Amino acid sequence: MTAPKGVTRRRFVQASVALAGMAAASKLHSAQEPAGEGLFDVHLHLSQAWYGADHGPIDARQLLAWMDAHDVAHAAVLPLVSPEAFWYPVTTEFVLSETRAHRDRLFPFCAVDPRTLATHLPQRKDVVDLLKRYQDAGAVGFGEHKPNLPIDDPLNMRLYEACSDVGLPLLFHLDNLANVDEPGLPGLARALAAFPDLTFIGHGKGWWASISGGLTKADLHVGYPRGAVISGGAVDQLMDRYPNIYGDLSSSGAHALTRAPAFGRDFIRRRADRLLFGTDYYDLTQQAFPQFSLFDELEVDPDVRRKIGGANARRLLG
Ligand SMILES: [Zn+2]
Repeated sequence: MTAPKGVTRRRFVQASVALAGMAAASKLHSAQEPAGEGLFDVHLHLSQAWYGADHGPIDARQLLAWMDAHDVAHAAVLPLVSPEAFWYPVTTEFVLSETRAHRDRLFPFCAVDPRTLATHLPQRKDVVDLLKRYQDAGAVGFGEHKPNLPIDDPLNMRLYEACSDVGLPLLFHLDNLANVDEPGLPGLARALAAFPDLTFIGHGKGWWASISGGLTKADLHVGYPRGAVISGGAVDQLMDRYPNIYGDLSSSGAHALTRAPAFGRDFIRRRADRLLFGTDYYDLTQQAFPQFSLFDELEVDPDVRRKIGGANARRLLG
């Protein structure tokens, strides 16, 4: 390094030392910052004009303003293409184009309804090629996957195979209408075992109800179950057996962790490497987001906040 003209050697050295000190201090600071590079919301949606003017549309600028208001640095933006998923399709192409100017903060996912594989994408290569095109256009994950099929339906399994081939983590919604399974989630276990290299991210009523054991089929469709968590829940059992299953704390996720606070406090620490912060914001009228008070409510330490708040998502999504 040479001193710029007009600056004495001594002053330059002094200034350089001060700058180096500041850089070191800021590095140290960021390593200790609870949320690292800030909160990463793994579950946001854009919307178009829909059933009432109060509810949408939510375009990229509004999404960014909402994120600013809630101190969210980065977010995954999820399409919704299956007829069971939303009031109308929010297509991958729409999400890719809306986020294009904001890829420093908004990270698009892609989605394909698996029934398309029965008609228009008959070969493994057809599905892989489509996913690769989405990846090339910026997609960093697959989902929100929400078709009315068994979670281990052959069409779903072909889709998981292609996601595994191209390396796109898959975020799924599970209840009695989407990615249907039985109590104990044996279908999900078959999918996890069949595709060990594919990261699955669990979301939805049925997935989070399964934090508790002793469930009936009807329990997989209760939005926010209350009360004690019975031991033997499928979420813990699957996380023990399969390193490729994660949990998305959006929507019913935060409720599952606060229904029995002693269990929640223990669970969030035990599973600190496998949980992802998210809200599932999709409607302008949504007000309550218990995810933002979850860390305080469960008295989570800075390292766990940093992992769940963003580090895990950044690691998974590259
Ligand atoms: Zn969602």
